[in-house]
Amino acid sequence: MRLNPCELEIDLFCSGARVPVDVPLDGARGVRRTRAGLGSGLELVIPTASWLKPEIWVNVPVVEPFAERSPFVLSGDAGALEILDERSGERYPVRIPRQPAWYDRLTSRDIEMSRIGVMQGTYLGIDINPICEFWDSGLNCRFCTTGENVGGIESAAKTVEDVVETCWAAKAESGVTFVHLNGGFQGSHALEFAAPFVRAIKEEVGLLVGVQLTPERDFSRYARLIDLGVNHFSFCIELLDPEWFARVCPGKARTLGQDLFFEAMEYCASRLPRGAVSGEIIAGIEPIESTIAGIERIVSIGAFPTVCIFRPTTGSPMADWAPPAYAEMRTVMAAMYDACRRHRLPIGLAPNIEVSLVVNPDDAAFLADRTLDFYTFEAWRRTLRVAARPMFHRELRAAVRR
Ligand code: SF4
Repeated sequence: MRLNPCELEIDLFCSGARVPVDVPLDGARGVRRTRAGLGSGLELVIPTASWLKPEIWVNVPVVEPFAERSPFVLSGDAGALEILDERSGERYPVRIPRQPAWYDRLTSRDIEMSRIGVMQGTYLGIDINPICEFWDSGLNCRFCTTGENVGGIESAAKTVEDVVETCWAAKAESGVTFVHLNGGFQGSHALEFAAPFVRAIKEEVGLLVGVQLTPERDFSRYARLIDLGVNHFSFCIELLDPEWFARVCPGKARTLGQDLFFEAMEYCASRLPRGAVSGEIIAGIEPIESTIAGIERIVSIGAFPTVCIFRPTTGSPMADWAPPAYAEMRTVMAAMYDACRRHRLPIGLAPNIEVSLVVNPDDAAFLADRTLDFYTFEAWRRTLRVAARPMFHRELRAAVRR
């Protein structure tokens, strides 16, 4: 049976793909295992030929052992690549995004820009903080490989100048509109640490800025970052079931607790425009009933869910786990879109933000039944997107000209 574009995305996340050595990948973005490692695959773009959205970006597992058993195989030549599903014989045209030229360029401190930030879909991801402190205490999340990556392929220490220069290059040459500043657990000083980066990017570059850090108890620090111009906060709650949370995320469970994630999410959602805050969860570890309950809890706060499909990443303590089942993940993603529709969350509003590491909420529109409310919601989203253009245009102007 032929899969629709979102179904193909989900199945690629679950199954991975094989890449024969004779398939040309010249100029493709390299497979980069940065921080948590969930983006350790090959970046692919699936054209949709649909009015819902023109294309879907997906970071396909190709190096993990389960990918060797995948029914999907990349085939064709440079101008006409496709994914062949050997079960059905169906072929899906795909495109491989090129590695940006700025990846090899050096910052003023002679550091390759790709060691400062990398493209994850169409946005720039930068891990600003030093290595997550959970790795020092052995309390790291079990799916994570941060401790293996920082200091190697990724620069361990990044200055504000490194980050600003890399953001400039990514904006000018790759058309980036959004930079996501990440970091793991840094005690209670991660938000403070992020402030000079946020200020410099907003003043000197002019990008939408997202911050993804473990939650802190002093909410005034979120207010300060909002005053500096932060556009988005995301909170990686990962798992809803308390026992699974404690088992897979022992540092988060012992040091922070699940409630703090939701309280911080709620605070930020009350201070930022609707749809500017997200709660991130991983599907495919706990039972999907819990995942779907987590999605419902996130949307009830006014945040939108970003749902990662679990990847048993090489080098992580969960490397020998099985990847999730496609049918279950399809159910989760359909529930994600349905929750956003029912709660009228303005998903997919910001320009040019396609996240390759997750199934974007608006990708999952392909899974929805074509009811009257589906069309009403989609028409509402499009109207909002047009209305929001002047606001985003202002946000993408640097406050201080260089
Ligand atoms: S908080 Fe967990 S997922 Fe994030 S960097 Fe630390 S160990 Fe990894």
